[in-house]
Amino acid sequence: MQTSSRIDKLLAQMTLAEKIGQMTQVEKNSIMAAEIAEYGIGSVLSGGGGNPEVNNAENWLEMVNSYLVGGQKSRLQIPVLYGVDAVHGHSNVYGATMFPHNVGLGATRDADLLRRIGRATAVEVAATGVRWDFAPAVSVAKDVRWGRTFESYSEDVAVVTELGKAYIEGLQGDDLSHPTGVLPSVKHFVGDGGTAWMTTTPKYEWIPGYWEQKDGSFAVDQGVTDVDEAILRQEHLPPYIAAIEAGALNIMVSYSSWGGLKMHAQKYLLTDVLKDELGFAGFLVSDWLAIDQIDPDYYTCVVQSINAGLDMIMVPYRYKLFIEMLTKAVKVGDVDETRIDDAVRRILYAKEALGLFETPLPDDSLLSHVGCDAHRQLAREAVQKSAVLLKNEGAILPLAKDVPSLFVAGQAADDIGLCCGGWTINWMGGEGAITPGTTILEGIRNLVSGSTAVDYAPDGNFQSPTKADVGIVVLNEHLYVEGYGDRPDMTLPEADVALLARVAEQCEQVVVVLISGRPLIITDQLDKAGAWVVAWLPGTESYGVADVLFGDVPFSGKLPFTWPRMADGFPQAEQTGTAVLFPFGHGL
Ligand code: BGC
Ligand code: BGC
Repeated sequence: MQTSSRIDKLLAQMTLAEKIGQMTQVEKNSIMAAEIAEYGIGSVLSGGGGNPEVNNAENWLEMVNSYLVGGQKSRLQIPVLYGVDAVHGHSNVYGATMFPHNVGLGATRDADLLRRIGRATAVEVAATGVRWDFAPAVSVAKDVRWGRTFESYSEDVAVVTELGKAYIEGLQGDDLSHPTGVLPSVKHFVGDGGTAWMTTTPKYEWIPGYWEQKDGSFAVDQGVTDVDEAILRQEHLPPYIAAIEAGALNIMVSYSSWGGLKMHAQKYLLTDVLKDELGFAGFLVSDWLAIDQIDPDYYTCVVQSINAGLDMIMVPYRYKLFIEMLTKAVKVGDVDETRIDDAVRRILYAKEALGLFETPLPDDSLLSHVGCDAHRQLAREAVQKSAVLLKNEGAILPLAKDVPSLFVAGQAADDIGLCCGGWTINWMGGEGAITPGTTILEGIRNLVSGSTAVDYAPDGNFQSPTKADVGIVVLNEHLYVEGYGDRPDMTLPEADVALLARVAEQCEQVVVVLISGRPLIITDQLDKAGAWVVAWLPGTESYGVADVLFGDVPFSGKLPFTWPRMADGFPQAEQTGTAVLFPFGHGL
């Protein structure tokens, strides 16, 4: 149990209402600063797209600060902890540096790079007054049909463990209490990447005021991790053991189920294994509306989740109802007050470790780091290292910079939003110039010789009557997040097949660049282009893709996922032999 004289003293002074307030996390649009003080709320969050009206770093700082000031007006002045999903850089913030999503970072196998990215992200996050990042996802994705595959470093637990730990160290920095120290939320505990096809749970619908559970389901997301305990420990637990070793003080619980129970009601795994056996000293936060899935009766949801070991609930909307239910549960004895005290101790311990009691309010001294050149340079390095060369017949790549003519096709060649994917500016992301950065096309135009003619036609209809020496076709997955990206069939869409064919007709040689959160089924198209590159979701410095195409930097990326040959070759991690197009670790 966490203890310090400050925490002991505070706990002795706190009323039950104040304790429960600390255990409550509210979405920022659902609460006003004055209510923070009134209820002694412990935490506020921005969900995906929870941005200020005019989205920039200065306004973020002002917005976050207003809630933190609210906390300072509470009776005991316990600092508020603000959380965000900075999942590939401070990715909601216009103008921030957006790194490749985790799938791309997994391809780098470069722990030192991950540590540096974690650090840079922490500085940008802290610059806006935020000290808590809902990252890294240490999901070990076993089935690429899962819409969250791009949030996973790899299907291989050793890769996830090593990179996740490095990223955690980067976020925390040498000293968590330094103004740039950021608390990681290691997620989603446990087995979120191992859910089986069509075993899943309800969706929600927005009923004015709150989300209501609906029938219907996602295909993979939030499903059942259908493995025994030995496999669960072997394949999904190691990243958490490494995170605890690295000093991580927060873990987010998964929407998924195991052993016939929602993880949010899994006392055995949350309390017996994570807290008691593994010695996790930090606090557990629930996922967004996740406790609501435990039972149709909300009171039961509250009782079961807190008794299972949840310390803070990401409510996120109807926080007064949550407070009312938990208060009642303690009063009638369904939840013991010692459980409440334990939860509050853990939360205060993390706040103390962050130095929030000494420095509860941020200043604006770090703002110039948001989207700075050094961070963008780091992002470009990550893009270069994450690209994987799948095929290179006749050594087409690297391309000569003085190639006389070049055709470039595909919307994503010149679209920052598509290259950033989901969790960018908005939850779903967005197309086009949604935030500043560089595109692949910009890189190509800058790198070629003065005599090279570059023609760009997103739809592949080039005006020139003569064939180009080289065609570069950039194909992308549509934007998605979470269960909305679950797909039964990963085959390249017809429109992409047609685009590729159109460009191939007009060019002597063709290079395909895939902008994708996961392997796609490309088997039938493979011989339509001499070279195939997968650049994943590279982020705002997509220029780095051009760096490797033209050989300024050699390819070094290795596949973090097995690449299936057939549309029914799933879960891909179980496929072997001829079912595999490119094996795990492949990369020319
Ligand atoms: C996701 C989490 C995320 C949270 C807050 C949930 O839907 O599963 O990964 O941290 O929302 O945005
Ligand atoms: C929020 C996300 C959250 C998701 C959960 C969205 O509306 O913006 O942050 O993860 O809902 O379903």
